[in-house]
Parts: sequence; structure tokens; C-alpha cells
Amino acid sequence: MKHLDEYRAGPRVKALAEEIHRQATFPLRFMEVCGTHTHAIAKWGLRQLLPETIELISGPGCPVCVTANTDLDLAIAAARLPEVTIATFGDMVRVPGSHSTLAQERARGSDVRVVYSPLDALDLAGSAPRRPVIFLGVGFETTAPTVAATVLEARKRGIDNFFVLSLHKTVPLALEVLLELGEVRLDGFLMPGHVSVVLGSAPYEFIPARYGLGCVVAGFEPVDILQSTLMLVRQAREKKPQVEIQYRRGVTKAGNEAARRIMAEVFAPAEADWRGLGRLPGTGLVFRTDWKCFDAVSAFNLTVPPGREAPGCRCGEVLRGVLRPPACPLFGSVCHPEAPVGPCMVSSEGSCAAAWREAR
Ligand code: SF4
Repeated sequence: MKHLDEYRAGPRVKALAEEIHRQATFPLRFMEVCGTHTHAIAKWGLRQLLPETIELISGPGCPVCVTANTDLDLAIAAARLPEVTIATFGDMVRVPGSHSTLAQERARGSDVRVVYSPLDALDLAGSAPRRPVIFLGVGFETTAPTVAATVLEARKRGIDNFFVLSLHKTVPLALEVLLELGEVRLDGFLMPGHVSVVLGSAPYEFIPARYGLGCVVAGFEPVDILQSTLMLVRQAREKKPQVEIQYRRGVTKAGNEAARRIMAEVFAPAEADWRGLGRLPGTGLVFRTDWKCFDAVSAFNLTVPPGREAPGCRCGEVLRGVLRPPACPLFGSVCHPEAPVGPCMVSSEGSCAAAWREAR
């Protein structure tokens, strides 16, 4: 990994930054729809390389952040079940639900393990066949196919103590809802690279067609993000909004059909609860009938009352791009990475955590 200064002094970064300064002669506001982009923009200090005419704002692209409190409460309810192991990606452990976190449940004796892939969770289940292992399925189209493939593998290996709490979400329809809300004036989107590896770029074509906004599928290195920004600037200058792929080493127009097929074999579209956007039909993934035996909600009859938001937390508005994190009254005072009030301050991909890092 190159050092930040090495990158920022590099000739390609310099040339791209200079060209953006030359071309962005009028105010432009672009939304990045991917938590990894939010993280990279803060990590590499890319805002400081852009002219004042360009504003980058974060959208609903951090999967942990958009997980509603009711769903976090379901995960916590699962952790409180006796003799059960919860396996999850690390960010979920510290995210506050309505009344607790998985870290607090672990401190009270629950078995909550951090894993790096769903297959790790399956291995856990395979190594202790009498103990149920519930994997928390949080993520977008990037994660869902690997979870679906793990479920196929579980059946192949005959492992029947592996379950998934499917809190997955899918991106394109949520963007349509965001655009229909019309709360934020935008000039284009930096589209998620990882999600688009699976989806392809074709599902975004409704955005230039119906809303007149450009989309560039971007990679994650500083040069990728700057080059994608420049492509959006050019589209805006020429008034020719379209879907372009900057991240050509990973993304095609058609995407990964095999991954989508596996996802569709195991999961069906369903309503999902998004922090900041509410309940959106067709943006979640539930188990199809043939695979229902892996569904943690039905296997353990998990139910919780509607979630409660932390008083004063404005994560919903941050995720819709209508509020910059420092404008939240709790930012940096009672809410900071050591004592996060909302998920956007917990996840490394969260907008508030990124803004905190940038401010320092
Ligand atoms: Fe929520 Fe903290 Fe961000 Fe405010 S600063 S929106 S309380 S996470």
C-alpha cells in the first residue's frame, strides 16, 4: 500500500486534480453510493485535491449504516438465545441497536464471533454440529451471492446447524427512491465498484434516462476516484448524462451473471427496512421456500418490537445526503468513534466516522 503523500504527489494524481480544477468551473455536487468510496475519499484526503466548485456527499452506501434498528435488535435477540453462536463481520459488533450492542451482549456472556467470510461461519457450524451458528447477512449485492453460495455449500456438506439472518439489501431501487424524494440537488453519482461487479452497469441506466444525471462506476484507488470525478465533470459540462464504467478492470455492463443466478436461487426479493429511507418493497432478500430451513428468523421464531432511534442521532438524514455529518449537533461532542451514538460513526465506511477522520 502506497503512503498517502506518495499518492498525492504522484504524477497521475496531480494531472487528474489539475484537469478537474480546469474543467469544474461551475458548482457540481456528486454523491458517492458506496461506503468504501466514502472511506477512501477520507483516507486519502481527496476532497482537499478538488476545487471548491465540487462537493462530494455520501449516500446510503454503507451496509451496516443503512441497517435499521429493528433489524439490529433482531440480531441482538438472536445473540440472547441460549447455546447459540453469532458469527458476523466486525463492524456489526459495536453498532448500537435500540437498547444494546452485540459487544454488550458478548460482555454479558453471549457467544458473538467476528468472521471474515460466511464460509468461516459455516466452518464454525461444521466444527460443532450440535450448536446452532447464526451468520448475520448484512450487505448489498456484493455480499449476498457469497452468502447464497455458502448456503448451497452447507446443504452439500449436510450441515444443518448453520443459519442466516438475512438483512441483505439491493441498491438500484433504493437509489430510485432517493431520487424520487428529490431532497438533494445532485449532478451525478459515483457508483459502487464492488456491487457493480455483480450487477453490471446496466441497472443504472434509468438514472440518466429519467433523472438526467450522470453515473460513473468507480474503482477504489485515489486515481480511480479522481478519474471518475473527472468523467462526471465532463458529462456535466457537455450536458450528456450517461452510465460510464471507470472501474473496467472489475466491471462490465452485464456484470456477473453466475453470481446473480446463485443469489436468485437462494433468495427472493422482499421488503427491507432502510435507515433513513424506511420500508422499501423489493430491496431486501428473503429465503426462497426450498432454502427456508437456513432462515434464522423462522428457525428461532425471532421477533422484536419496532426499533427506537438514539435521541438526537441524525444518521437517517446523513444517509440520504441531506445533512453533512458535522452539522449533526452530536458530532464530535457526545458522538465520536470511541462513543458512537449512531451507526454512521461506528463503521469504517460510515459518513460520520469518515468526516471525523477527515477533520483530523
Ligand atoms: Fe448519528 Fe453521531 Fe452521525 Fe450524529 S454524528 S448522525 S449521532 S452517528
